[in-house]
Amino acid sequence: MRILVVEDEPKVARFIQDGLTDQQFAVDVATDGASALRQVESSGYDLLILDIMLPDVDGFDVCRRVRALGFTTPILMLSARSLVDDRVKGLDTGADDYLTKPFDIAELGARVRALLRRHREPTLVPLSVSDLTLDPVTRVVMRGDRRIDLTSKEFELLDYLMRHGGQTVTRQMIAEHVWGITWNRLTNVIDVFVNHLRKKVELPGESRLIHAVRGVGYVIRETNSDD
Ligand code: CA
Repeated sequence: MRILVVEDEPKVARFIQDGLTDQQFAVDVATDGASALRQVESSGYDLLILDIMLPDVDGFDVCRRVRALGFTTPILMLSARSLVDDRVKGLDTGADDYLTKPFDIAELGARVRALLRRHREPTLVPLSVSDLTLDPVTRVVMRGDRRIDLTSKEFELLDYLMRHGGQTVTRQMIAEHVWGITWNRLTNVIDVFVNHLRKKVELPGESRLIHAVRGVGYVIRETNSDD
């Protein structure tokens, strides 16, 4: 996940860059609006963090121009001011979220992940694999007539697996798409979550749907005779 931070104050830019790099994002910095626009046009970013107070054009203008160029990249605006007007103006110019300085880097990271997740939100049609169904709108998961209660992370994980039904997804892909980060140490956590999910989705007597693919990751599909 590549992020462009547009911020002219070196200290703040550095703080954001270091903090998000620690959270496994690839972060570039632009120090004025004009170079930000050049960078956006030349290298597709997954997300922009845009300070409002910049030396040339302001953040609102950068935001407007990015949208005018046709980019749908999620944009999070930063401002030292907490004026409601700024917030509204930011969102009206096409920003997706707004954070007031000073902020906690963990909160910024959480907002970034939420934006990336929302941006990826695909179609909302119900998904099914064998007798397992998942409705992304009502968030109801059923195995036949049995309703399955999942935590929100388990739901996201199942949703991701089902959207790729029959395809093997790697732990890395799961980390990126369900947790929004690329973090190798997360792989154990993923295995634990998958096991929890399996216990709920595959009760004794029900066929296996979630299969481990050795050394690679997981796949959800109907059980074959050779499983
Ligand atoms: Ca600034």
